[in-house]
Amino acid sequence: MQFLENFKPELLVESPGRINLIGEHTDYNMGFVLPTAIAKKIIFKFRKNDTATSCNVYTLGYDQGFQIDLKNISKSEVEWQNYILGVLNEILKRTDKLRGFDCTIESNLPTGSGLSSSAALECGLAFGLNELFDLGLSKIEMVQLSQTAEHTYVGTQCGIMDQYASVMSEEGHVILLDCRSLESEMIPIDLHPYKIILLNTKVSHNLATSEYNVRKAECEEGISIIQKKYPEVRSLRDVDVDMLSISKAEMREIIFKRCSFIIAENERVLQMAKALQSNKLQQVGELLYEAHEGISKDYEVSCKESDFLVDFSKNNPQVLGARQTGGGFGGCTLNIVAEEAVADFVKEGAAAYKKAFDIDLEWFEVLPSQGTLARWL
Ligand code: ADP
Ligand code: MG
Repeated sequence: MQFLENFKPELLVESPGRINLIGEHTDYNMGFVLPTAIAKKIIFKFRKNDTATSCNVYTLGYDQGFQIDLKNISKSEVEWQNYILGVLNEILKRTDKLRGFDCTIESNLPTGSGLSSSAALECGLAFGLNELFDLGLSKIEMVQLSQTAEHTYVGTQCGIMDQYASVMSEEGHVILLDCRSLESEMIPIDLHPYKIILLNTKVSHNLATSEYNVRKAECEEGISIIQKKYPEVRSLRDVDVDMLSISKAEMREIIFKRCSFIIAENERVLQMAKALQSNKLQQVGELLYEAHEGISKDYEVSCKESDFLVDFSKNNPQVLGARQTGGGFGGCTLNIVAEEAVADFVKEGAAAYKKAFDIDLEWFEVLPSQGTLARWL
């Protein structure tokens, strides 16, 4: 693209991915989650281009760019462009201060790996444009408009967690977020002498978007049955095990399993927060294994590759716990591993995984990190 030839950016934005320690699929059920931003991120560079409505966006990783006219925003055939267009569309609904800009996107965040490169892309763009044009959007407005963009332009009916974590995180903490009230508490996380190690299965099964929306619909089906007995219930967050069992007879088996998982998972988030606060590391690990069992058997959003890696961890006494992290069907497993055992763990894991699936395992350590940052250049 022509603007790249003499590109002098004015503003740099670092927009991180995230892990979720526990609380999978609880966000759209208005429950609790426990995520944090990680040190892997998308980097945006921006400059105003002195036009009223002409924008250029180029992503280095894909070696692809496109032009946008702010007067004429509509969905694209190209998937990644819809994250950009969706965010611009939402910003334009809220302010008339947006003008033409040029922007490049670089990333060291694996995509489709459950680390939420999608939220990093949306929120980083919103954050940068807010700063560049002094749009006056609050952080929570940027989080919410990014979520809406993913619903309307990409079609994933995601909850609020990914965007919230990417923007709001603080170094050395996980966020205990109530996805209904959006109240949050920063929980310090210190797992010494253990580390958080991510193993990337490098599979990203195509089911992710479609099955995500199916799970959401299944939860809604469950709620509508439970509401017959408990009209005050608004989401699965309001349901306990006893209430669910009273409605069980009226439910398809699969709906019961989905609801059971969400109720248990929501409870695990609160237990995890307490375990971290009282430094009960064994319990931290046990909760992760329990969560994976539910992810795999009841919510059925795991896959053979993730199950293999979690089972591999279970056989290693130096690993306290493990589970698949993110929306599901591949991506990364999160493992709590004794510091001195990390080198052997990843070496043996890589060999076993290669033998089983002929895929080169990728791994890295996660450091709970700061959310989105903008810097004038
Ligand atoms: P995840 O959020 O777990 O990484 P998603 O499927 O939700 O997985 O989002 C991945 C999508 O986000 C990619 O397929 C692509 O469309 C978009 N994306 C992520 N990073 C970039 C990037 N650096 N440049 C362009 N598009 C990106
Ligand atoms: Mg995503």
